[in-house]
Amino acid sequence: MTIEFAGVTKRYPDGTVAVDDLSLTIEDGTITVLVGPSGCGKTTTLRMINRMVEPTAGKVLLDGRDVRESDPPVLRRGIGYVIQHAGLFPHRTVVDNIATVPLLSGWGKRKARERAAELLETVGLPPELGSRYPAQLSGGQQQRVGVARALAADSPVLLMDEPFSAVDPVVREGLQDELLRLQSRLGKTIVFVTHDIDEAVRLGDKVAVLRVGGRLAQYGTPAEVLRHPVDDFVASFVGRDRGYRGLSFVDADGVEVRAVPTIALGQPVEGPTAEWLLAVNQAGRPRGWLAPGSTVDEKLAERDLVAGGSLYHRGTPIRGALDAALSSPAGLGVVVDSGGEVLGVVTARQILDVIQGPA
Ligand code: ADP
Ligand code: MG
Repeated sequence: MTIEFAGVTKRYPDGTVAVDDLSLTIEDGTITVLVGPSGCGKTTTLRMINRMVEPTAGKVLLDGRDVRESDPPVLRRGIGYVIQHAGLFPHRTVVDNIATVPLLSGWGKRKARERAAELLETVGLPPELGSRYPAQLSGGQQQRVGVARALAADSPVLLMDEPFSAVDPVVREGLQDELLRLQSRLGKTIVFVTHDIDEAVRLGDKVAVLRVGGRLAQYGTPAEVLRHPVDDFVASFVGRDRGYRGLSFVDADGVEVRAVPTIALGQPVEGPTAEWLLAVNQAGRPRGWLAPGSTVDEKLAERDLVAGGSLYHRGTPIRGALDAALSSPAGLGVVVDSGGEVLGVVTARQILDVIQGPA
C-alpha cells in the first residue's frame, strides 16, 4: 500500500508544531524509516497514518484514499502497530495478546488462537511461550510478541515506533535481522520510527530524516543519505557515531590512543574504500577489518571482513597492546574498554617506544 503525506501539519492545542508541512510518499512494499532526534515529530507523523492523531492541515492518503474517510477503529484494526515496550496486555497470555485483533475482527476463538500459535512460530518463538504472561518473557521476547500481534491483523501496513529501542544492542540486532527476514517474505509496507541512524540505514529501503519542528530534511535511500547529505544538519546527524570511533587520549602508559575510522555492519559502503576501516557491530564492538580497495554489495556483512587481531583491553599490561598491533591486518592494534567497545587504535611503533624508549 502506498502512503502519502500531502502538506501535512500537526499543531497540538498548546501551540507546539510537531509536524510542519510534510509531503512524503512511502512506497508500497518497502521499509521506510523515519529517523531524527527526539522530539522531531516521528511519533506524531506515524500516528497520523492510523488516525491516533489528526492533522491540523493537509491529508494522509492510503492508496490514494484519504484516511479521514475510514472509521478510526476499523482503520486501526487494519494497520499493525508496534511500540517500544511492546504494549502487551499484562493480564493476558501471549497467545491471547496475539489473538486480540483477530478476535476483535470477529474471528472465532479457536481460529484466532490457531492463528496466534502460527504467528509465534513466524516470529521465532517456541510454542510453549504462548501460555505465559508478558512479564514472564525477556524484553526481546516481548518485542517479538508485539510484532506477532501486529502481524495478526494481516494488514498490508505495519507501523513500528522505536520497537527495538528498549532492548540491548545484541538482542536488537537479532530482532532487526528477524524483521528483514520476515519482510523478505511478507513484502508489507512498513513505516519504522527510530532515533538511531545505524538502525535506520540497516533496515530502511528508504530513510526520511526529520529535524526538530517536524520538517523533512532529506528523503532517500540509505546510501544517498549517507553519501550525499543535503545539509549540515543531515551530515552531522548521520555522521554521529559513524566515521570515527574514539577520541585521541593518552593511556596510563603514555601511549596516545588514536581515533579509528569505523563502519557499522549493515551499513552501505562507498567503494572502493581508501583505507582500513574497522567494522563494528551495534554495540560498538569490533568485528574485523574492511581492507582498502574493498567494494561491498549493498550493505556491509561479516563475510566482507578480514579477521581482526587480538584486542587490547585498556588498563591491562601494555604488552597486550603490542600483540594487538602486530596481529592486526591493518597494523593497528584495537584498544577496547572493559565492555569491549572500541576506544581507538595504537601502532606497534608507539608501544615499542614506550617499552624500549624512543629509537
Ligand atoms: P518524536 O517521536 O520524534 O520524539 P513526537 O512526535 O513525540 O516526537 O513529538 C513532537 C513534538 O510534539 C515534541 O515537541 C513533543 O513535545 C510535542 N508533542 C507530542 N505529543 C504532544 C501532545 N499530545 N501535546 C502537545 N505536544 C505534544
Ligand atoms: Mg516518538
